[in-house]
Amino acid sequence: MATVVKCPTCRRPVEWSAESVYRPFCSDRCRLIDLGAWFSEQHKIPDDPQEDERLGAPHGDVPEDP
Ligand SMILES: [Zn+2]
Repeated sequence: MATVVKCPTCRRPVEWSAESVYRPFCSDRCRLIDLGAWFSEQHKIPDDPQEDERLGAPHGDVPEDP
């Protein structure tokens, strides 16, 4: 009984066997596409301007000793 999975990229059925070297993908192309999508997802950081750490931080006479 062959197990068939769907290619995450193109949704084509892929037979889960030793011959399907790119499983769960149907081909090397689909594997790379998914990999690329994953990477672009990781780099999709919202355009958040870096907060100035010093902004609002107290500086000057800060009592440290009790
Ligand atoms: Zn595919």
